[in-house]
Amino acid sequence: MSSRPIYLDCHATTPIDERVLNAMIPYFTEKFGNAASISHIYGWESEAAVKQARDILATAINANPEEIVFTSGATEANNLAIKGVAEAYFAKGQHIVTVATEHKAVLDPCEYLKSMGFEITVLPVNHDGLIDLEQLEKTLRHDTILVSVMAANNEIGVLQPLDKIGKMCRQKEIIFHTDAAQAIGKIPLDVEALNIDLMSLTAHKVYGPKGIGALYVRRRNPRIKLAAQQHGGGHERGMRSGTLYTPQIVGFGKAVEIAVAEQETENLRLQELRERLWKQLSTLEGIYINGHPQKRLAGNLNISLEGVDGAALSLGLQPMVAVSSGSACSSNNVAPSYVLTALGHSEKLAYASVRFGIGRFNTVEEIDKVAEHFITTVKSLRSASAVSC
Ligand SMILES: *Cc1c(COP(=O)(O)O)cnc(C)c1O
Repeated sequence: MSSRPIYLDCHATTPIDERVLNAMIPYFTEKFGNAASISHIYGWESEAAVKQARDILATAINANPEEIVFTSGATEANNLAIKGVAEAYFAKGQHIVTVATEHKAVLDPCEYLKSMGFEITVLPVNHDGLIDLEQLEKTLRHDTILVSVMAANNEIGVLQPLDKIGKMCRQKEIIFHTDAAQAIGKIPLDVEALNIDLMSLTAHKVYGPKGIGALYVRRRNPRIKLAAQQHGGGHERGMRSGTLYTPQIVGFGKAVEIAVAEQETENLRLQELRERLWKQLSTLEGIYINGHPQKRLAGNLNISLEGVDGAALSLGLQPMVAVSSGSACSSNNVAPSYVLTALGHSEKLAYASVRFGIGRFNTVEEIDKVAEHFITTVKSLRSASAVSC
């Protein structure tokens, strides 16, 4: 184990916290009942466990338990939200607004709807990754049925102004969906204060299991209609049929409970680690932060680096640290990420880029080790070759 690289890719996924795993285990074996079985204790205890998790999730976002629809993750939640609204509000209009830096699980359903005849406006972002609210307002029309803007970006960690977007949508009676896969448990989320109508969640970015997520669907003021995308036994108020995956749901609830309870102290710790990392990396020349310097997730650092071949950097980092690195240079055919492209720094697109996702189990020692290795790697790459990018 000691030779395994240090994991700094927490936007991709996170390990399950042992407290979460321990909560899940009984529901694989002795408490295996179907939560929909109403005639015996096996069903009742599963149903009670699902109810508890639903309550935790609802409390975490200031919603009611009936407004939580369990799904297989945020991808499915986004699909259900976007296609579900498109179908249910077809008579009102066929215009949807989203943003260039959204996750593919939002952009691709929108693309699909476009092929079905819907009109999609994809808003650009500023250099810092934030949307322009005035520009958003100008795109909203009488036939706009949905605005989908993510809470926290998975590459650059940027936090969009949900409060202002929500207020604008509510005034214009347009449904507001937010993909909060990276945000749940990491920043405060209040569907009432933020005027959110639909919110996609997932467990595995917050030390819960993979394969479980949820869609928050507003029931009151206003009641949001949603066309089911998966039909069957009528589970989850008919919006998402299929036997509930009890152990995963229990783990999801536990993961969010822990994350919310520890959010403030953990964010301070993560921010210190990130600043410690940046303080060391910024001694290098030609290194830049991508995305807004403050309005971002505490554990996120995304950098671009000039004069280094992205593929070579990735190779050099791999034995020591697990990060996501994009690239860039004309000498390899790895395209720059569309999120970085959307920031519009055309000169930086030729640079190598690295996303650090610092998480719960990372330590100061790890950060220092990574920083040292990173700096050594970059310096040796720069001196070894005169890469022209
Ligand atoms: C990870 C992620 C998703 C996909 O979530 P899954 O639960 O893996 O389907 C969607 N949106 C964002 C912003 C993400 O970070």
